[in-house]
This record gives sequence, C-alpha cells and structure tokens, in this order.
Amino acid sequence: MPEFRFYAELGDFLPPALRGRSFTREVAAHQSAKHVIEALGVPHTEIGLLLINGEPAALNCRLSPADRVAVLPTLHCLPPPACGDSAPSFVADAHLGRLARYLRFAGFDTLWHNAWRDAELVALAAADGRIVLTRDRDLLMHRAVQAGCYVRGEDPLEQLLDVAWRYSLDLQGGNPGRCLECNALLRPVARSEVADLLLPGTLAGFAAFWRCPDCRKVFWRGSHWRRMKASLEVVACRLANARPEAMGRHHGV
Ligand SMILES: [Zn+2]
Repeated sequence: MPEFRFYAELGDFLPPALRGRSFTREVAAHQSAKHVIEALGVPHTEIGLLLINGEPAALNCRLSPADRVAVLPTLHCLPPPACGDSAPSFVADAHLGRLARYLRFAGFDTLWHNAWRDAELVALAAADGRIVLTRDRDLLMHRAVQAGCYVRGEDPLEQLLDVAWRYSLDLQGGNPGRCLECNALLRPVARSEVADLLLPGTLAGFAAFWRCPDCRKVFWRGSHWRRMKASLEVVACRLANARPEAMGRHHGV
C-alpha cells in the first residue's frame, strides 16, 4: 500500500490519529492521488506540492503500492493562481461577509452575497478565474473549483490576515476602494453632486466624497472608515512581521 504523510497545517484536515506521521492507505487502480487525498479530507486547493518518492508529481497521477507520498501545503510565496500580474479576485461564501467587506475596503475585487448557493459560487469563480474563499472544505473539493482558500479562524481580521498572507496581498497598496455593499469601484464625486443626499453635519465635516456607480451609495472618511482603516493597518503590520508560527498556524510535522 502507498505510504502517505501530510505536512504542516494540512494535518488539520485529517483525523487526529493520522496527523504528524506516515500511514498507509489502500488505493484502487482507478483512483488518482487527488481522489485519495480528498477522501482523507484534504481539499486539493490547499495542496502546494505533491511529492511521490521525493519527486514532484501532478495531482491526477496514479499511485503504485510502493509509493511514498508527501503532501505539502500552499505557501504564500507562490504566485496567485491564474492571476498573472494583476491582483487576485475572490468570491466569498455566505458566512464570510465581514471578510468580504474588509477585502473590498482594501480594494480587492470580492464578490459576496448571503443568498448564493455553492453551485453559484463555483460558477462565478470559474467564469472570472476567482479564488473561492470558504470555511467549507467540501466546497473546495468541488470538481470545478480551480483556485480556493480554506479560511481559518472565526474572526474576520484573523481571516483577512490568513488570506493576505497566502496571496501576498498589499493591504495598503493604494488600491482604489470598492463599495462595501456591492464591490463596484468607487468614484470621487463633487460635494455639490451629493449635497442633497447627506446630513448638513456630514457635508460640512468632510472635504472628499466617493460614490458607488452601481448602488449609488455615498462614502466619506468618517468614523466607520477610520475604524476599518485602523483595523487594516493592524493586520498589515502583523503581516509585515508575520511568520507562520507567529500567526498561530499549526506547523508541527
Ligand atoms: Zn455599491
């Protein structure tokens, strides 16, 4: 039987008894390495490198009884898949609304709707080459999901740190902000154009305004903006100093 070992945080997906050690598994002739690995609970999107007898191998390869299979996680220094030189874009599942808002605030194209079902998420990701963000590993195992990220943690800022680390996102890169409600790129707008939409105190207290071209919502840099900006700065600072150990990841091998 082939021998398997999963390294670093990939162990989180395994039953406890299989973490941090080698073990054997019966493999049927028709099964690919990907099939066996996902049957053990590890989504293919989380795999950075597959080694068979010490040599890099494709996920769809077939295994022989004497093979030694090592599975390593995705590393943040690898380029984002299918993104070329442009910033990665995302589609987030229904439970990640606050993460989606932070990503939009930082300027990253992030689709999210609380009513989308799995099939819609997968179709949107496939259509635009988006990375699926989810805490549902079954969704990541969907055949049509090319790029995905299992988001760890419950806190949206911890989630943001995880995603930003993995995809080397520059959270303070000066990206134009996006509408927190609908993801469209915000456009600067003259005060006179929004004067009759805002309270007098808001109008008098701020010099610059932005408007969403799609949902028409008006934005300014008030207390909500400052709170989100401060949170983003904290995450960016942690990211600049981040090593996996410092982020609370489980790196025991
Ligand atoms: Zn909008």
